[in-house]
Amino acid sequence: MDLEQELGRRLKAGIKKNEPLSLHTSWKVGGPADFYLFPAGLAELVEIRRCSSKYGLPLFVLGNGTNLLVLDGGIRGLVVHIGSPFNYIHWEGASIRAGAGTPLPLLARATARKGLAGLEFAGGIPGTLGGALVMNAGAFGGNIGSLVREVILVQKSGAVINLSHHEIEFGYRHSNLPEKGIIVEALLQLKEEEAAVLEGKVEGYLAERMSRHPQLPSAGSVFRNLPERPAGSLIEAAGGKGMRIGGAQVSEQHANFIVNLGGATASDILALIKAVQKLVWEKFGVELQTEVRVVGEAK
Ligand SMILES: Cc1cc2nc3c(=O)[nH]c(=O)nc-3n(C[C@H](O)[C@H](O)[C@H](O)COP(=O)(O)OP(=O)(O)OC[C@H]3O[C@@H](n4cnc5c(N)ncnc54)[C@H](O)[C@@H]3O)c2cc1C
Repeated sequence: MDLEQELGRRLKAGIKKNEPLSLHTSWKVGGPADFYLFPAGLAELVEIRRCSSKYGLPLFVLGNGTNLLVLDGGIRGLVVHIGSPFNYIHWEGASIRAGAGTPLPLLARATARKGLAGLEFAGGIPGTLGGALVMNAGAFGGNIGSLVREVILVQKSGAVINLSHHEIEFGYRHSNLPEKGIIVEALLQLKEEEAAVLEGKVEGYLAERMSRHPQLPSAGSVFRNLPERPAGSLIEAAGGKGMRIGGAQVSEQHANFIVNLGGATASDILALIKAVQKLVWEKFGVELQTEVRVVGEAK
């Protein structure tokens, strides 16, 4: 039996071959995944993990693809999408146990409606809980890492483990979770507060984002902020706003966003990232680091 037959036999849900990842990233760019898999639940995810080890194939985990620049040659091996089968919330007093595929906007709204505080900042972040834990996503002074009590992951061997928050490191847009395994669930500690107040906060943050952020396809902030200054303000001061390569443009509205004007390729976006880094280095002697993750192969 080869890999394809074995996966086909083991997975109820789905396998697609040569699936364009541009269909699964917020920038709408990215070449094909050799195998794009969407497991129907934990048991299938464990099978996929075991198969990838057995056949010695690399495995890349994809949430909503909102923090990724997938290059035009795509990703070799297996790409596993943690999606709707992992979208659930179980209520446990002032805590919630949520699946890694749960969208953050849904989590923020549902918890606010229940009168549980902590996730209001996340209402406008378009990723999944799994991607947010990896990135320690945050906004408006909040971040997901500070709410974590435990995380459940699937290790390389296929074993399912439980990590307590003491065993997890969260930093600025960083965590050590990817090296531990594929995230399937997290227990988050929230706090009881009045629902109407929390819902008002979520809507207020959303309105603020709508007024500041471009609506064209993007991956949010491209560069990490510096401790002393937001990256967007440096780029703007260097004259980077509106710079364009192919179909990619530094947003006129927010200089830390690169937008796809339509028809951009990953190589346009990557070239623009490098051009902005060069500009800021030449003007200010500062090396901007990317917050978005660049993955896959160039064409
Ligand atoms: C318009 C816009 C606004 C944004 N605003 C913000 C913001 O305010 N604050 C902020 O922090 N971010 C922001 N982002 C970036 C992005 O939404 C977050 O980083 C988000 O948490 C990424 O989640 P995702 O599911 O899309 O992850 P992906 O982009 O799919 O993946 C990101 C990384 O996580 C890994 N990963 C994903 N899921 C899992 C899993 N289950 N197990 C193990 N590894 C996994 C991937 O392999 C990859 O390395 C914004 C993006 C956009 C497009």
